[in-house]
Amino acid sequence: MEILLRPVSTLAPSLISDLISDLDAISPWSFTLGPPIQNLNHAYLPDRGQFDADGILVHLLNEINDQGKVIGLIDVDLCTPVLSFVFGRAQLGGRVAVVSTFRLDNRFYRLKPDPGLLIERLKKEIIHEAGHLGGLYHCRNRWCVMNASASIVNIDLKGFKFCPACLNYLKERGNNGP
Ligand SMILES: [Zn+2]
Ligand SMILES: [Zn+2]
Repeated sequence: MEILLRPVSTLAPSLISDLISDLDAISPWSFTLGPPIQNLNHAYLPDRGQFDADGILVHLLNEINDQGKVIGLIDVDLCTPVLSFVFGRAQLGGRVAVVSTFRLDNRFYRLKPDPGLLIERLKKEIIHEAGHLGGLYHCRNRWCVMNASASIVNIDLKGFKFCPACLNYLKERGNNGP
């Protein structure tokens, strides 16, 4: 399965190219760079000062033009109607997902910036959302990349890999790539 990554233009191109080669090496999918996301204003929620994750998914879906899957990469704070924030969001078994660097970045927590750690967290969250696109729900195995992450502590604890049960599910559904 091929997944197109569509970053916002404010994310550094060097970060994106490192990310794509790493993701190809550690995940069952093939990632390619797609056109940048032009504008997120349509999803801004002035009352909350955040961006509506589902609004961004609808926007990505409207711009999709082939049979592939798309993950948007953004750098603003995401929320949903019932969650005060999310690191990312995906259509379960669908075609579009989004991940934000906003709360993956040490600077949000007033900690020393750590670009390497930011990339590690981003990779995990991208693979996690890709797993949702593949139809996976959250996993109780805390080391599995499909474990639900309530904070960066959980993200830092888990790995990049799917546990055997999750990997098996993807294989059975044919989402394990060529
Ligand atoms: Zn999830
Ligand atoms: Zn699992």
